[in-house]
Amino acid sequence: MLRQDHLLFQDSIGVQTQVTSFQFGQAGARPKVYVQASLHAEEIPGMLTAHHLLEKLKKAEAQGLIQGEIVVVPVCNPIGLAQRVDFKPMGRFELSSSENFNRHYPHLTADVWQLVQNQLGPNSEQNTSIIRQAAAQVLANWPAPTQLQSLRKTLLQLALDADVVLDLHCDLVAELHMYLEDDCWPALEPLSRLLQSKAVLLAKGSGVQCFDECLSGFWRELAELAQALPTPCPVVQACASTTVELRGEGDVTHELAGQDAQAIYTYLEHLQVLKASQTLAQLPAALCSATPLAGSQTVVTPVAGVLVFIAQLGQCLKPGDVVAEVVNPITGQVHAVCAEVEGIYYARVKDCYAKANDEIANIAGRIAFKTGNLLGA
Ligand SMILES: [Zn+2]
Repeated sequence: MLRQDHLLFQDSIGVQTQVTSFQFGQAGARPKVYVQASLHAEEIPGMLTAHHLLEKLKKAEAQGLIQGEIVVVPVCNPIGLAQRVDFKPMGRFELSSSENFNRHYPHLTADVWQLVQNQLGPNSEQNTSIIRQAAAQVLANWPAPTQLQSLRKTLLQLALDADVVLDLHCDLVAELHMYLEDDCWPALEPLSRLLQSKAVLLAKGSGVQCFDECLSGFWRELAELAQALPTPCPVVQACASTTVELRGEGDVTHELAGQDAQAIYTYLEHLQVLKASQTLAQLPAALCSATPLAGSQTVVTPVAGVLVFIAQLGQCLKPGDVVAEVVNPITGQVHAVCAEVEGIYYARVKDCYAKANDEIANIAGRIAFKTGNLLGA
């Protein structure tokens, strides 16, 4: 295991922030899997899962079971982790810029295409390697004049050439669910079964340049551009990345983290990054089918009041089923907020008071109906 401390851009005198990565296996060995936790720094379940995963990987290394390369960054946002406002953790937005830590990653396609369009040929493996080198070059030139930008660049440089990227987040109160791009689904479907995911939300770009899409999106776009070349130059989806929502913010227990770390470990065996110590068992049955992110209803309350959730998380709701009641103790009015799509109710807010127009819950419907940016702030 190789521990490396990556120093971030120092934007104030006397303060040096660093990101620590742990690498197993030989650099350049394939497949390569990159795992990071808690990019939104108040989302802690991934950090504990990473801890359990690291313990398992150290044992695997001692037994000579590492065949590919694995990079784990268990605390990937030290900037956000240190932020507090009125004693409350503030890890989603950087306080200096108000920018979401999981937005504003670079769109690499145009610059990479400039470098590779005359180099691609009939061999898809060679094309993958040409594109990876070009992407590394483009990223190396990406300016990082702030601490936040240097964090983004550091994480991308660790993950850029990975075959699989797992970005471990969590929701407020939620069942385990995953976000990914359509083209990444075949590679990640086994992980969704192993994690016993209750919802899988697919998109072809959510429009907000988050970490996982920055890494997978340019492969799809380059494949589309390459189709217009005069001779066949196949470009495959060489990076499958996903944002895994490890339930809710309060779901931090050794039992859950151990279970999730074991699921990721078994997935690494399936990918043959790790040599399986015994014959691999069949994958467990899927608990859900993938649905379009554009079909997910964000349930909004039109009135303010005390939020009383009526439906149970994980339940399959139908249009008209009551998700929550919003109670106004002054007027005595009780307003029912209902599902508008049929699907799994997979996440909700944890606050018990809502203002009018607040988003309070999510339901994974099967039919796409939304356009534009598909993820909230
Ligand atoms: Zn998050």
